[in-house]
Amino acid sequence: MINIAVIGPGAVGSTIAFDLKYLNSNIQLLGRRAETLQFYTNGDTKTAYTLDVAPLHVHHQPVDVLFIAVKIPQLDSVLSEYSHLLHSETIIILAQNGQGQLSKFDHPHVYQGVVYISGQKKGNIVTHYRDHKIILERNLHTQKLSKLVADSALNIELTEDINKAIWYKLLVNLAINSVTALSRSTASVLEVPGMKTLCRQLLLEGIAIAKAEHILFDHKIVDDILEIYEGYPSNMGTSMYYDILANKPLEIEGIQGYLFSIARKHQLETPILDSIYALLLAQQPIIDK
Ligand code: NAP
Repeated sequence: MINIAVIGPGAVGSTIAFDLKYLNSNIQLLGRRAETLQFYTNGDTKTAYTLDVAPLHVHHQPVDVLFIAVKIPQLDSVLSEYSHLLHSETIIILAQNGQGQLSKFDHPHVYQGVVYISGQKKGNIVTHYRDHKIILERNLHTQKLSKLVADSALNIELTEDINKAIWYKLLVNLAINSVTALSRSTASVLEVPGMKTLCRQLLLEGIAIAKAEHILFDHKIVDDILEIYEGYPSNMGTSMYYDILANKPLEIEGIQGYLFSIARKHQLETPILDSIYALLLAQQPIIDK
């Protein structure tokens, strides 16, 4: 029997664990502490399921597949205490937004997932709203994983061009997360005069940074992303908006900070990104991760 663990019993990790619960596998959901979660799925807020979480630091046997679904600022603490879960062939899926974190791993089979799972955790209540998809690069390991989960609700989609999928999500996150976090407003901030222009300029800089890394997007993508933003309900918050309101560390390092470092690498001029990045850094709370 396959052993699977999911570290990070939040919106994404709990959904992955719940989706895989009925497979013929041994699955553990691991967090900072033992707790029992109330879990709602697919936007159905009437039917509650329970999910048990075991503490990561207590000893567990090595697993064959490990999903890591913590926020970017929480990754270092996971990496300092997860080695007991690994054997040489363990496949690790980093189910996170952003880019640039894989270099922190000292393990051969780690793959960045592009996560399309939407949900929220409040206390011990996790509400999954919609989507069950993780996009991964196509290789022998991920093909094996995709077959393994084929009978579950988790949709592992394999692509030949993972970098494009990662950068597309990075761009979608870039503008809306920045403006909602900095203004401490929901998507309603898009109605402020000049805000859509600011998003457009930021996205154009993002596309230029992608191009320097040989990730090519048509400029039409800016209109497509702005159209996605316009489809958001005005009372919808983004994860960076919720994190800033809760005074939690922001995922800047893997989104705006990552793009900033790549822009510097290629000596690109990115005045909008530079300003946004500095302003976000200034908001970053100095608190325990
Ligand atoms: P989340 O709800 O905040 O969940 C993170 C979980 O990890 C929390 O339960 C947290 O515990 C736990 N954790 C933190 N440090 C840990 C540690 N050292 N050991 C074990 N567990 C630890 O975050 P999320 O929304 O699932 O997001 C995970 C990633 O997916 C992020 O990169 C996010 O941007 C991305 N994403 C999220 C969504 C979404 O809709 N939520 C959509 C797409 C992508 P505590 O509860 O104790 O803090």
